[in-house]
Amino acid sequence: MSEPSIFTRILNGEIPSEIVAQTDTLFAIRDIAPKAPTHLLVIPKTQEYRDVTELAAGDPGLLIEMIELAKGLADAEGDGDFRLIFNTGANAGQTVFHVHAHVLSGGLDESSMNAG
Ligand code: AMP
Repeated sequence: MSEPSIFTRILNGEIPSEIVAQTDTLFAIRDIAPKAPTHLLVIPKTQEYRDVTELAAGDPGLLIEMIELAKGLADAEGDGDFRLIFNTGANAGQTVFHVHAHVLSGGLDESSMNAG
């Protein structure tokens, strides 16, 4: 088992962060460096998958659940429209290798195309 990721440590209460939504398999937090009025991270509770390609291959149903939760959060916190970003690989700006979706909503323009 690899070292706990920063997101696993948040889930375990070792690093403070408000968990804004939770299901059996997922949780969501506010990004500490928001790039839009609503900028949430939707994260599987398991850190088994490093990025969205591993998740799609290993548990596509969980990927669908992530999209459904993202939509629910954009409805509740944003204007219902949202941008879903999976930075995949270091050269694409991924810094945490525990798969997560950036959910950006509200007041979006080209400057928030990059969630990293
Ligand atoms: P990525 O660069 O796509 O791997 O996304 C990682 C995201 O995690 C970045 O947008 C960071 O701002 C965010 N982040 C890092 N540490 C924390 C934290 N303690 N609480 C909330 N968000 C965090």
